Amino acid sequence: MEKEQLSYGSDYKPIPATSITSGVGIEVIPDLYCCNVQIVNICLVGKPESKDFILVDAGTPGSADTIFSMVEGRFGVDSQPKAIILTHGHFDHVGAILELVKRWNVPVFAHELEMPFLTGKECYPAPDPSVEGGMVAKLSSLFPNEPINLGSYVQALPADGRVPEMPEFKWIHTPGHTPGHVSLFREKDRVLIVGDAFVTVKQESLYSVLTQELEISGPPRYLTPDWQRSWESVKKLEQLRPAVAVTGHGLPMIGKDLEGNLSKLANDFDKLAIPDYGKYVGKNMKH
Ligand SMILES: [Zn+2]
Ligand SMILES: [Zn+2]
Repeated sequence: MEKEQLSYGSDYKPIPATSITSGVGIEVIPDLYCCNVQIVNICLVGKPESKDFILVDAGTPGSADTIFSMVEGRFGVDSQPKAIILTHGHFDHVGAILELVKRWNVPVFAHELEMPFLTGKECYPAPDPSVEGGMVAKLSSLFPNEPINLGSYVQALPADGRVPEMPEFKWIHTPGHTPGHVSLFREKDRVLIVGDAFVTVKQESLYSVLTQELEISGPPRYLTPDWQRSWESVKKLEQLRPAVAVTGHGLPMIGKDLEGNLSKLANDFDKLAIPDYGKYVGKNMKH
């Protein structure tokens, strides 16, 4: 593996914005720890005393040291996950992954349809700075968009829904935000690791991102090219009736709060999530 050309996208660089909760971890339930890294969340799944855990998603560019210290803080010095699962390959979910795989030498798994974006073959559609929303949307053309190359570290998730090293979880295909976006679901306690299929902060708005004000929202608007499929994915997740949801952006949402907000989002996605204007918004999507 050493000889492979692993690389970040040529435009990868640290982003300047950091929320007030950056560096803060929340134990949502005993084996699910959700940590905020600048503007995005990573999840550590596993009980701290077992030393047996998985990392879901890999932070913003330049955040490797933050992630290493979060992992050590929870699982002890020299601990490392058995694998890294990616909900999708956007820059703020793979931003530190090369440092992580080089130190830990662990496999990375993502949906098959996400592979071109993780092996240097294809760029995601460009972000849309013209989309309805706030300052983060307007700045989104500055975000890294070139594909990362994880070489043979990255493998496709098994087609049957199993999640390697996470036997109690199944992956759910939730495309729209990206073609191979997945969420992870555990039936026994209805825990859902959402990724960006929906989020709990208005990610377009700089104020909301910095303060992490809790509000259910569709996927980040500036990076979502397929709104119809995004809606179908939200409906699919709502039908799972999750009791706990941790999202790629924003604070965890649980219980009645989650149930009410998610059903509202699934029913009124056209009004609540689909922007009024933007280059990826079709004429017939609203109402
Ligand atoms: Zn994303
Ligand atoms: Zn994201």
